[in-house]
Amino acid sequence: MIQHTAKPIMKRIVEAEELLKSIHDPEERLAIENYIGNLYDSVHELEKTPNTFSFENYLGAKEFNRFCSRRISYERKWFQKFLKDKKFHEIYLRNILIGQEEDIEELSDFSFPSDPPISRKKLVEILYAFFEDMGFVDLFDQYYRQQHIFAIGKNQKGNNVGYLEFNPVSKSGEIFVRNFKNDVSTLKIIAHEMGHVVDHTFDQDVPSFNQQVFASFYGEVLSRLFEKRMEHFLLLNNILPSSTKDAIVSSAIIHHSDVLEALIFSLMSKDCLRHYEYFSWDVDTFKKKMKRHFLDSFNYKQSLRKIQSADITNVYRYAYGDIISMFLLEEIEKNGVSGDLFDYFMERRCDLFDQKFMFEGGFEPEEYIRMYQDEIKLVKK
Ligand SMILES: [Zn+2]
Repeated sequence: MIQHTAKPIMKRIVEAEELLKSIHDPEERLAIENYIGNLYDSVHELEKTPNTFSFENYLGAKEFNRFCSRRISYERKWFQKFLKDKKFHEIYLRNILIGQEEDIEELSDFSFPSDPPISRKKLVEILYAFFEDMGFVDLFDQYYRQQHIFAIGKNQKGNNVGYLEFNPVSKSGEIFVRNFKNDVSTLKIIAHEMGHVVDHTFDQDVPSFNQQVFASFYGEVLSRLFEKRMEHFLLLNNILPSSTKDAIVSSAIIHHSDVLEALIFSLMSKDCLRHYEYFSWDVDTFKKKMKRHFLDSFNYKQSLRKIQSADITNVYRYAYGDIISMFLLEEIEKNGVSGDLFDYFMERRCDLFDQKFMFEGGFEPEEYIRMYQDEIKLVKK
């Protein structure tokens, strides 16, 4: 059943707090403390009460400092590696954007009427059929029946429409969906979050989990893969076809802007990134800094707003999530979730970014562009 109250979450918090008492390993503590803190945020949102939870008071000053420094050490590692690969990202992402240029112009002209509404019962049926098809129906059934999926209030900040909180020690998580409706967008969100569940559940130890959650380039690959597979599944079975086409177009536009945002960060100087100079830029400064890289038609205002509010690790996670998931999608649609490329990815998905990983996996920009264009052809049919 879909949950609308915080009761089951309170239960999970109590369980996690109990578990924490017996845990001394710092990696495991970091993961559980982070999980508990985030669950408290969700409780207040579901109950519409002001958030009085303070992590510092909860952990105590000493433990809180340790918690912060462990998180920061992951971020620092991520950033150092990123600076080393900055040139690679610049060339790689630019090649993709150049290849997408014509398609993206065409995309803004598409528009589709909405489909007749479906019931909650039908929505659940579609989810079961989808996860059966993906080979993860038992896992989904467990999440659905054991109160792990929550409908949460309206969207307040940006496009964060769903999220997962996961406890990697007990290997269990809660899925939150904002603006829960019986529609394509909710189907996509649940598919996406279940992708994270699969990612965190199988063959992942706690240090790899922390690595992936706090400092990974690959943390959004499986989630995007599930999301895209859901789009194809709906289209193939003629379920909500018009809204699905609309969703495919929106995804293609969003993915393009994710890559663009990542490219912009790759173009900034090391010092600028190190001192967060872009936080204080206005449109003119931004234009001046980016002018030699882009045409005048480039939408500076919109990009600037996104850049200023962006978490740089997230930007890359989504950009590479889009890219790599497309390669995996093509493979699993041929071979199911057991192909060579899928195994290749699953074995390395918790590592830090590696150029060799990109080359050896065959994740070439030209191939990505071809697949991107194939997606657009689906909409035209
Ligand atoms: Zn995600």
